[in-house]
Formats: sequence, structure tokens, C-alpha cells
Amino acid sequence: MATAPKVTAATSWLHTCSGCHMALLDMHEQLLELLTVVDLRYSPIMDVKEIPKVDVALIEGGVGNSQNESVAKELREKAGTVIAFGSCACFGGLPGLRNLYDVKDVKDRAFVDTVTDGSGVEQHSDVLPTLFPTVRPLTEVIHVDYAIPGCPPRPDLLGAAIGAVLRGEEPVIPTKNLCSECQREQAEMHKPQREFVTKAVHALFELEEINPTKCFLEQGILCMGPATRAGCKGPCVEANFPCRGCNGPPPEALEQGGKMVDSLATILPAGALMFSEDTVGTGYRFTLPVSIIPSVMEGRGA
Ligand code: SF4
Ligand code: SF4
Ligand code: SF4
Repeated sequence: MATAPKVTAATSWLHTCSGCHMALLDMHEQLLELLTVVDLRYSPIMDVKEIPKVDVALIEGGVGNSQNESVAKELREKAGTVIAFGSCACFGGLPGLRNLYDVKDVKDRAFVDTVTDGSGVEQHSDVLPTLFPTVRPLTEVIHVDYAIPGCPPRPDLLGAAIGAVLRGEEPVIPTKNLCSECQREQAEMHKPQREFVTKAVHALFELEEINPTKCFLEQGILCMGPATRAGCKGPCVEANFPCRGCNGPPPEALEQGGKMVDSLATILPAGALMFSEDTVGTGYRFTLPVSIIPSVMEGRGA
């Protein structure tokens, strides 16, 4: 009996930390199963110089320099289906935090104000990729067929989504928020009441004890669960740390910080604190390039 030809695939990383490729490797046995039907032709883990034509390309990272942009466009041209994976590709992610700064300050911070000898950077600036003033998510630079968020995406979710695409099916990415799959007790938040659930907002280190089974917000600890897309099953909240929002916003939300303020409005007097003390770090850690923060929009020429 003739066996079906394998699906040809490429993977690439752009403006990124490579952690999403580690999530691919974290698929363990599932990865071995995938490799029985996939013929990997191009990847940062292979020494292949030219991008070949492939059926599917998996791209990690946003677009922050000229090389990222040309690789993204070439992969779009040469791949039948493009999957953006990870929150950098979907929203700009952590590297997108540099959008708050001038590109010269970013370069100085990396190559001048450090113990690293950055003199070679100026010396070879004619051959190095040009750093763009801002990081853009991959999804804004090329058309992507599917986007799988997470920093990094949960390996089983990633494996299931890739498997679905290989079978010609739509990948299923949860659409509700993290609270919908959180196991912590959420009693007070849902009761109509005249008072805030708690009046103070605490940093973790300020509390002598954190109840491991009660919703963080009900203990006065900011947890991005209400403004974060479900799918990870809450490994952080399970480990007694509040969610930082790495999955990005649920699809119906305009943007993550705004969604969080909206969610907090009736339960905590926290919106003001959040936005006066650590606007970006709390509400936009993973999604700044797609936020409505005015300075970012100005920087992008919006
Ligand atoms: S989404 Fe997170 S893990 Fe993936 S490349 Fe970006 S920073 Fe790294
Ligand atoms: S706010 Fe955080 S702790 Fe509370 S239910 Fe949502 S995810 Fe769980
Ligand atoms: S709980 Fe929040 S920060 Fe932790 S993995 Fe899930 S979405 Fe990311």
C-alpha cells in the first residue's frame, strides 16, 4: 500500500527569544508522532541556507528589523499555510516592550551601556540588519493563516493545533478567559455588592500568606486572568502566582489592558493603581505593540 507523502514544513524565529521553539521540543513524544507525517526542510535547528517551498511554515517572533521582515515575507511567499506561534508573533510580545523607547537608546542600552564590547556594531553596521523603530507582530506584517498565542504556547495546545492544521482541520484555540478554566474559588466576585471585594491591592511580597485555593483578585492581588485568553490551564495560578497575561487577550477584547480595567471596575479599586504605577508591566507586558498606549501609537506613526 502506498504511503501518503509527508507534509513539508519550515520553522523560523524572528524578533524573539527562541523559547517557542523550546515549546516545540517540549512536545516530547507528540513531536515524534508529528515527524512521522512531517518532512522538516528548513529550521533554525538545521543548517539550511535557502528557504525552500513548503506546505506549512511555523513562525515564532515579531518583526523588529529588516532581516525579520524579509524572512517573514519570503516564508509567506513560499509556504502554503503560515502559522504564527507564540505571543511575540501574535502581539509583539516581550521584545515589543522596547517600543516605549527611542531606537538609539535601545541600541545604546544593548551595546554601549553594558560591559559587552559593542564597538563592532557600528563598525559592521552596513551588513547588519537595520533595527526598526518599533517591533510589530508578525500578524501585522504578513497574512497568517493561524495564530497560536502563549509565551511560550503550552506544548500540548501547540501540538494539537499543528496536528489539526496537518489534517486540514481548523485548530481549536479556546476563546474564553483564563478565569473560566481556573480552579480557584471565585465566590465574592460574582455577588452583586455595594463594596469592593477588597480595598487594597497587594504585591505578593507584602502578604504573609497567600491562600492557595482562593481567587487572587479576591485577596487583593492583581491577576490578569479576566483579560487573558484561556488555554494554558493556569500553571502560574496553580503554582500560587497570579497570571501575567502571557496568552494575550481573549478574541472579543479590543486590547488586554483595557479589558483588564473593565473587568476590575466593579471588584477592585485597582484600575487607577494599575495605570498610575505600572501600566505597561501589568496590563501590556505581552501585547504593547498592539495596545492603544498613545506613545506607542505615535511611535508607529499612527
Ligand atoms: S512568545 Fe515568549 S517564549 Fe516565545 S519567543 Fe516570545 S518571549 Fe520567547
Ligand atoms: S482572577 Fe486569576 S485567580 Fe481569580 S479566577 Fe481569574 S485566573 Fe483564577
Ligand atoms: S497563567 Fe497566565 S501567565 Fe501563566 S501561562 Fe497561563 S496565561 Fe501565561
